[in-house]
Amino acid sequence: MPKDPGAPHRAPVTDRSSIRPGNLGSVLRRLRDDGPRSRTQLAADTGLPKATVSTLVNELTDLGLVREGDPQRSEGAIGRPRLAVELDGSRVCGIGVEINVDYVAAIALDLRGRTVFERRAAADVPALGPAGTLDVVAELTTEAIARTRAQGVRPVGMTIAAPGGADAAGGSITTAVNLGWRDASIVAPLRERFGPHAPLPPIAIRNDAHVATVAEYVAVAGDGVRDLLYVTGEVGVGGGVYSGGRPYQGSRGRACEFGHMPINPEPVPCPCGRVGCWETMVGLGAFLERATDSGDAVRDPLTDRERRLADLHSRAEAGDERTLTALREVAAGLGRGVALLVDAFDPELVVLGGYFTQFADYLLEPVQRTIDERVLAPSTGRCEVRPSTYRYTSTVRGGAQFALEPLFQDPVGTVGRSPEL
Ligand SMILES: [Zn+2]
Repeated sequence: MPKDPGAPHRAPVTDRSSIRPGNLGSVLRRLRDDGPRSRTQLAADTGLPKATVSTLVNELTDLGLVREGDPQRSEGAIGRPRLAVELDGSRVCGIGVEINVDYVAAIALDLRGRTVFERRAAADVPALGPAGTLDVVAELTTEAIARTRAQGVRPVGMTIAAPGGADAAGGSITTAVNLGWRDASIVAPLRERFGPHAPLPPIAIRNDAHVATVAEYVAVAGDGVRDLLYVTGEVGVGGGVYSGGRPYQGSRGRACEFGHMPINPEPVPCPCGRVGCWETMVGLGAFLERATDSGDAVRDPLTDRERRLADLHSRAEAGDERTLTALREVAAGLGRGVALLVDAFDPELVVLGGYFTQFADYLLEPVQRTIDERVLAPSTGRCEVRPSTYRYTSTVRGGAQFALEPLFQDPVGTVGRSPEL
């Protein structure tokens, strides 16, 4: 074969067996979590020989997943700066779709986390039911796939995230009490809407708070955080946990249903059928009931939630006593539950998402104070409370990042399984 003088210098391929999916994936994961770095640094990070790392980097470059970045000179080093390797965001993306009580959203993120496509549609999902909602999902994903492919970016996976239990293997939602859905098949009827020959990437279904936790974790992993508790205020209250840099799933993937911890001293009925669940104290529905009357425009599910709650936030700013009292009650209930979870999981960071983020200026400080007062071993270090990095887009972003996750296990197989452009 004639030698291409423009080709970058390649290390001789001495060990094809080193191109194992796990090794390729772990190099890719390092570049995502820790940022651009030289081959020498990657070898030190992964414990693999430098020649092996060079082979892996070449393979990932051929797949379009990494590229040469700017030269890097390590601190105090002399001589020629080393060429850094970085993720290449231009070739593949993951698509996240979020089904929420009052909207459906879709986003496509490339490998570097750049937004390639984003759209949110207000929708009364309980009234639409599974079939009507899947029509909205199909419309959004059709647009997402068309727009990403038009930019030359290939979707390698799609995650549909919904509140409640998700049967990943069966492609269905088992119970979503706040949507009023039970055993709703999702993946198969969605594929039917596209027809048998549509170039769709693999589709997965997951619990919304679990995938939101992925987005929040990826956002702070670069700061060295490995133990994270995420609690999100939606109509329900859910969350997720990362322990030692790994997501905590539970034996059936149903862990972290925090909203149904029975900690409300009042026996308020919950849509799950029990009474006194945490979400009857701090869920969005409970907050709106305390803060507003039933005909208030702030409760209209067909108006974008962020805009509605911005109105409510303005009332708090203007000193409206009813809104402020409701916020004080939410803060007290939130602090009580979060302190319990901090004792149970011992995180270094608590991230509050959903509407808790939009009202962070009223909720964060009292919740932090409650944790500081109530945790059992304050001498072992402070657990910090922060608002979500992404507010209402954590779930849909996490869905897109979760859709990229197979790349970090088996880059060659994942790119191979995605439809050609
Ligand atoms: Zn409940």
